[in-house]
Amino acid sequence: MSLTDSVQNKQPGVITCKAAVAWGPGKPMMIEEVELSPPQSMEIRVKVVCTSLCRSDVTAWLSQAQASIYPRIFGHEASGIVESVGEGVTEFVEGDHVLTLFTGECMSCRHCTSGKSNICQVLGLKRDGVMHGDQKTRFSMKGKPVYHYCAVSSFSEYTVVHSGCAVKVSPIAPLDKICLLSCGAAAGNLWNAVQFNRN
Ligand SMILES: [Zn+2]
Ligand SMILES: [Zn+2]
Repeated sequence: MSLTDSVQNKQPGVITCKAAVAWGPGKPMMIEEVELSPPQSMEIRVKVVCTSLCRSDVTAWLSQAQASIYPRIFGHEASGIVESVGEGVTEFVEGDHVLTLFTGECMSCRHCTSGKSNICQVLGLKRDGVMHGDQKTRFSMKGKPVYHYCAVSSFSEYTVVHSGCAVKVSPIAPLDKICLLSCGAAAGNLWNAVQFNRN
């Protein structure tokens, strides 16, 4: 094997994993095999260890307003382990323990640089079922897109999130408990924003 081959072989490929796929508003979530793309630029692929069910997942799942964004994978509160990293990612390496965030931090927009708020204008709440970077999905089934929820979609064995939508945690922190903090860590951003906009 040449050096080029070994470097190429280290590139993450498409993986197949199981996910709870919702087929329509209020319809039962079915465990399906889905394909998951490698992480794109500035993204990480995460092996989901634990995920919680939040009322927001249920509300969105029952809503008829987004009936066009199906099939879809819900879940936005997860803890997991980085499986691979995309181009340009320097903050994470394979094996890092992480929490996902449904509102991230780009570190360069007006809010992220304010010192008062981090309600990011680039990696904010994503309601349209696609990723921030290229407005596409990373999940598919037989070549057809499977849409995201909040650009997290943690009701899956693996998921891809923007590197700004994850935070590294201590490897000794219990992943089954800290996934419950995931929503709060992101919601803290929203609270900061309220304060920021008041001042
Ligand atoms: Zn930002
Ligand atoms: Zn939540």
